[in-house]
Amino acid sequence: MAVASLLESGWTYLITHFSEFQLAILGTFIIHESVFFLSGLPSACFERTGLFSKYKIQRKSNTPDAHGKCIMRLIFYHVFVNLPVMTASYPAFRYMGLRSSLPLPHWSVVLYQILFYFILEDFVFYWGHRALHTKWLYKHVHSVHHEHATPFGLTSEYAHPAEILFLGFATIIGPALTGPHLITLWLWVILRVLETVEVHSGYHFPWSPANFLPLYGGAEFHDYHHRVLYTKSGNYSSTFIYMDWLFGTDKGYRKLKALEELEGKQC
Ligand SMILES: [Zn+2]
Ligand SMILES: [Zn+2]
Repeated sequence: MAVASLLESGWTYLITHFSEFQLAILGTFIIHESVFFLSGLPSACFERTGLFSKYKIQRKSNTPDAHGKCIMRLIFYHVFVNLPVMTASYPAFRYMGLRSSLPLPHWSVVLYQILFYFILEDFVFYWGHRALHTKWLYKHVHSVHHEHATPFGLTSEYAHPAEILFLGFATIIGPALTGPHLITLWLWVILRVLETVEVHSGYHFPWSPANFLPLYGGAEFHDYHHRVLYTKSGNYSSTFIYMDWLFGTDKGYRKLKALEELEGKQC
């Protein structure tokens, strides 16, 4: 109850000091940038310092030049691609029912909506990502994202502008269909960023969510996708494992895991 009233008074402050447009565009942009860089930078630091090397999935590390190039390109695309696209799509969001007024939505509504967004995003991402692995699209678009065969957190959004648009579409289709409260949209952006940064981190810790969350792919699942030749990699889903299992695109990965398990037992 105390948390709810604290949230409500914080939200009242925001909506009385800023317009809905400012909150929906600049607010979302600032939240995205803060969460993305704060959660993405640690894995690059771990690579440079060797910290947690025991939990690193691949032996290879990226050079400081590769880290720098990735960061510069991301800042450029965030300002010149993400921000204009967010601004242009604001009227559509308004039309679909996005609101920022009080009362705040009930937590159960927020929970169901975000769960729906994750499932829908994963479905759309799976098929789009499979298409991106066809010869022409891979060569001209998706190979940019695969420049990093050893991913680190920030590489999650390192992609060709056309792919950035596709990623954006997969992320916003759920909210666009349900017309959520802005606070739900912010929470969705935060969770989606944390999830994609985590699966690209290149580290599998004992506390990684894949160890606790059923059906969640995690860093090992997506790291395999970056490591293996693009025609053979599979593991196309963004978040969950069931789409690849259903459509048989995780066979190579599952074979490798079974082999690793066998080797572990024999040691
Ligand atoms: Zn790919
Ligand atoms: Zn990736």
